[in-house]
Amino acid sequence: MLTRRLLLKATTMALPFSVLGTGTARALSSEPLSLADREAMALSCRATTSHDELVTAMRSFLNGEVAAGHVPADYRTTVSCPFCSCSLSVAPDKSL
Ligand SMILES: [Zn+2]
Repeated sequence: MLTRRLLLKATTMALPFSVLGTGTARALSSEPLSLADREAMALSCRATTSHDELVTAMRSFLNGEVAAGHVPADYRTTVSCPFCSCSLSVAPDKSL
């Protein structure tokens, strides 16, 4: 049987949880990069051979996939640079 005392106790215990549930989840947030940071990251891609290294690593991976028979020899894929977000098309070596 639901008594008034039990109802008040349940309401009192549920109140803190109802307050917590009204807010938005703020565990993750994203902020845009400042202009200086974006320019620095873009310069890092242009100034070094990071794209060449990325393409070489992906091509090596694709060569292994072709050799294992997981993808056809004419397979082509696109990778995104983690720094400047540009897309790079990569295919396995033709000699395989
Ligand atoms: Zn890049």
